[in-house]
Formats: sequence, structure tokens, C-alpha cells
Amino acid sequence: MPDARNDPVVVIGLGRFGSSLAAELVRRGTEVLAIDSRPKVVQSMAGKITHVVAADSTDPEALRQLGVPDFYRAVVAIGTDIEASILTTSLLVELEIEDIWAKAISREHGRILDRVGAHHVILPEHDMGERVAHLLNGRMLDYMEVDANYALVKTRPPRDYIGVPLGETNVRRKYGVTVVCVKGQEEEFTYAGADTVLGYGDVIIIAGKIKDVERFAELP
Ligand code: ADP
Repeated sequence: MPDARNDPVVVIGLGRFGSSLAAELVRRGTEVLAIDSRPKVVQSMAGKITHVVAADSTDPEALRQLGVPDFYRAVVAIGTDIEASILTTSLLVELEIEDIWAKAISREHGRILDRVGAHHVILPEHDMGERVAHLLNGRMLDYMEVDANYALVKTRPPRDYIGVPLGETNVRRKYGVTVVCVKGQEEEFTYAGADTVLGYGDVIIIAGKIKDVERFAELP
């Protein structure tokens, strides 16, 4: 099996999402073939991405001529034109691309992409909206959903948890939350254990079910 981390990636659709993604992949040393149907967009990306071509990704012959079937990974970053997004994704499935990522602009769009055969469906605007909602509430400094009902949260310790060894707080039993690591001011993150004593100004990473981490991060 190829090493997915360094394999070239084909990025189709160079709107805001696709162009940032392609540019970041190139910056990190990944070879990218970027495709967009608008010649102007292609021209504007020419200096930033090595291989960028104007083509219609709903045309199977065009995809073949560009060597798309040889790629192991592809991202369909077309959002607004749902028909083009679905057609392109199904063509990539037909071409047996092994790792297909597709961007959706709504849950319904995402469900169709999933059914058509995309291996990963991303909903960037929806996910970011949810994340910002979490950051606006309580003391959360960062929030990452790692599974349908599980999250990692960067936050500050609630008042009652300061100055007491974690082992004595019963935080796991009381809130269903695990304090994974802690960072004091001017320090680096270290794993938290039963003897860890949290202080004012510390930052902690907690893990747990979404409801539980939310409840914990709202404690005063
Ligand atoms: P964003 O919200 O990230 O800006 P858009 O959906 O607005 O995404 O942009 C998608 C890009 O995909 C546009 O640049 C558009 O030209 C391109 N695109 C749309 N349809 C096709 C297609 N059939 N083939 C190739 N590129 C396409």
C-alpha cells in the first residue's frame, strides 16, 4: 500500500477551500495536481501550485488525459455546484481512486456524497460553525470533535479544581471527564496524573463525551 502521507493529491475545484488546501499541501511538500474549470482561477494559482490545469472534472476523458486514475488520493472541493460535485465524486469512484475526500455544503449534500462512494465527507462551514459556538460559550479555548460523541477541549481549570491533586477531585466519576495534560504559565504541556495539582493560569486538555466536556467547561 502506498504511503498516503507523501503521495501526490489531486485537488478539484479551486474556490476558497480548494485553493487554501492545495497551497498548504504544496507548502508541506506534497505534490499536487489542481484542476478548475475556470481558466482565470487556474492562471491566478499558477505561481503557487506546480501542476494546475483548466479542465471540467465532470468529463471522464479529461480526467483520464490528466492522469487522474493514477492518483491514490483526491479531494473534490467543489461546493456550490452540487451537480458537478456529485458527478465528479462518482467519476473518481468509477476510476477506483482509493482515498476520496469530498466537500459538502449541507448535510443532505454530504449524505449523497457518502452514498455515491466518497470515503470522507467534510462539511467545513458546518463544522467551523459548531466549533465557534463552543468557543463562544464557557471557558473553552479550543474544541475538537474526535468522534460523533467524543471531544478534546482546551480550557482552564474551574475554581474548585485549583490547588487539589486531580486524584482527589473525582473529576472522572463526577463529570465523566479525563484531564489529559496540563500546561503552566511559561511551561510546556505534560501529562496529568493523580498527583497533578492545577494552578491559576494553567491550561488543561480534557477528553470526554461532548455533553460532559461542555458541562465541565461551564463550571465557574
Ligand atoms: P468555495 O466555497 O470553497 O469557494 P466553490 O464551490 O465556490 O467553493 O468553488 C468551487 C470551485 O470549483 C470553483 O472555482 C469552480 O470554478 C470549480 N468548479 C466548479 N465546477 C467544476 C467542474 N465541473 N470542474 C472543475 N472545476 C469546477
